[in-house]
Amino acid sequence: MPQIAHLECSRCYAQFSPDVPRTLCTQCPDPPPGSLYVRYDLSSLRDSSPAEVIERDMLSSPWAGMWRYRSVLPQVEPVTLGEGWTPMLRSKRYPNLLIKEEGANPTGTFKARGLALAVTMARHYGLRKLAVPSAGNAAGALAAAC
Ligand SMILES: [Zn+2]
Repeated sequence: MPQIAHLECSRCYAQFSPDVPRTLCTQCPDPPPGSLYVRYDLSSLRDSSPAEVIERDMLSSPWAGMWRYRSVLPQVEPVTLGEGWTPMLRSKRYPNLLIKEEGANPTGTFKARGLALAVTMARHYGLRKLAVPSAGNAAGALAAAC
């Protein structure tokens, strides 16, 4: 599993330690501050293709859903309601078209995946109060994951 190497500003490329939870850059010369990307140390995966890593995970992982991809997710204990592993359905109108059925997620939307990972990291950092801008689906997914 890769370790988080650092956080990197999407605008000025400043680097920050992943030991402190943060989402925005504090070093951008001009506002608005850039969002921070998580950068992983992928050297442990260097000798494997992404497909090989994912296939290995799928075969050996006791986890279902999105956590079967743990080798490319943060190395922390997951918070999960079983999100992911949603089916692909064939369109009745267009037989060559497959549609991802994200309503099969625990909260009925694709938001369940991202919020499960957000709550996983919040627990890792010891955060106790979480909020999200939402028209409804994200807030529902956050509440369920919490
Ligand atoms: Zn910046």
